[in-house]
Amino acid sequence: MLPHDVLSQVQAELLDFRGSSMSVMEMSHRGPEFEQILAEAVADLRLLVGIPSNYKILFLQGGGYGQFAGVPLNLLGAGQTADYVVSGGWSQAAAMEARRYGSVHIAATTESTQFTQIPAAQNWAFSPAPAYVYVCSNETVFGNEMHTLPMAQNLPAPLVCDASSHFLSRPIDITQYGVMIAGAQKNVGPAGVTIVIVRDDLLDRAQIACPTVMHYQTMAQHNSMLNTPPCFSIYVVGLVLKHLLTHGGLAAAQIRNVEKSRWLYDALDASSRFSCPVRKQDRSRMNVVFTSGDAVVDAAFLAFAEARGLKQLKGHRSVGGLRASLYNAMPMAGAAALVEAIAEFERII
Ligand code: PMP
Repeated sequence: MLPHDVLSQVQAELLDFRGSSMSVMEMSHRGPEFEQILAEAVADLRLLVGIPSNYKILFLQGGGYGQFAGVPLNLLGAGQTADYVVSGGWSQAAAMEARRYGSVHIAATTESTQFTQIPAAQNWAFSPAPAYVYVCSNETVFGNEMHTLPMAQNLPAPLVCDASSHFLSRPIDITQYGVMIAGAQKNVGPAGVTIVIVRDDLLDRAQIACPTVMHYQTMAQHNSMLNTPPCFSIYVVGLVLKHLLTHGGLAAAQIRNVEKSRWLYDALDASSRFSCPVRKQDRSRMNVVFTSGDAVVDAAFLAFAEARGLKQLKGHRSVGGLRASLYNAMPMAGAAALVEAIAEFERII
C-alpha cells in the first residue's frame, strides 16, 4: 500500500508537474526538475533514517534479485567466502545467487523448522574470515523478522542486510551495517527502484565482472545517474519520504506498526480456527502469516474477506495459507477490519 495522500498528489501532478507542463514520466532525467526530485529524495532519506555522510545512497534497478547478485559482485573478492544466515526463502535465494560469484558458507539456517524461527545469533557459525555476513531482516513469505541484530563489533565482517519488506517501518541504526538493500515496492514506493545504502570503505571491492549498472562505486560517483534512472518510481519514493517525515518519522511508524500487528497476532492467538506458526519473539510486524491448517477453510476465509473488501490475503504461492501484509500505509482501521472479519468468520463457520 501507498499513503492515500501520496497517491492523490501523484494524480494531481500527473499531467503537469508543478507548472513544468510535463509529466515526470516525460521529462529528461538530466533536466532541472528531475535533478531536484532526486536530490530531495536522497536528502530526505538521509534525514529520515539518520544516514551519516560516510554512507552513499544509491537508487538502482533490478530489484531485490538484482542485489542478490550485486552484493557478491561488489563485495566478494577472489578466494574469499561470504557467510549467509538463512531465515527464509529470500535469504536462501540470495545465497544461491551468490554461489555463482564465489564461495558461500551457510552460517546458520532454520530451514528444518520451516523458518518459523530466526537462527539464534549465538549459534551463527562463521567461516574463518568472511568477506561479509548476510541477513534478510524480514522474511516476507514466512513472516519472520529480526527484532534485534548482533552489534557490528560482534561480527567478523560487515553486515549486509536485505531489509526490503520492512524498510522504514522502524528506526534503523545504519552505522551497524556495511550495506543495506531494499526494493522499494513494499513500504516506500512503486516497483522499479531498489535502494542501496553503502558504507564508503566497501565501495571499491568489486569483482572485475561486476556490471557497471550494479557497480556501487561507479553508481555513487554518478549519483545513481550513470544511465537513465527509474525516474517515476524515484519521484513517488520521494513523496513517501516526505509523508513519513511529516508524520513523526520512523519512531512514529514503529509505534503504529507495533500496535497494528499486535491486534492481529492477539486475535490469532485467541482464535479457535486460525493460528500463526511463527515463534512469538520472531514474528514480523509487516507480514502476518496464518492458517487454519485446512486449505478448504483457508480458501473460504479468503472469499469471505474479499467480499468485505479485504484484499490480497492469500499466502505466498510457495507456502499457501494466508498472509496479511501490514505495511506502513495500511491504516489502523484496515488491521481492525481484519480482526473483526476473523471473529465473524469463526462465529458463522
Ligand atoms: N527480498 C525480499 C525480502 C523480498 O520480499 C523480495 C520480494 N518480495 C525480494 C527480496 C525480491 O525482490 P524483487 O522481486 O524486487 O527482485
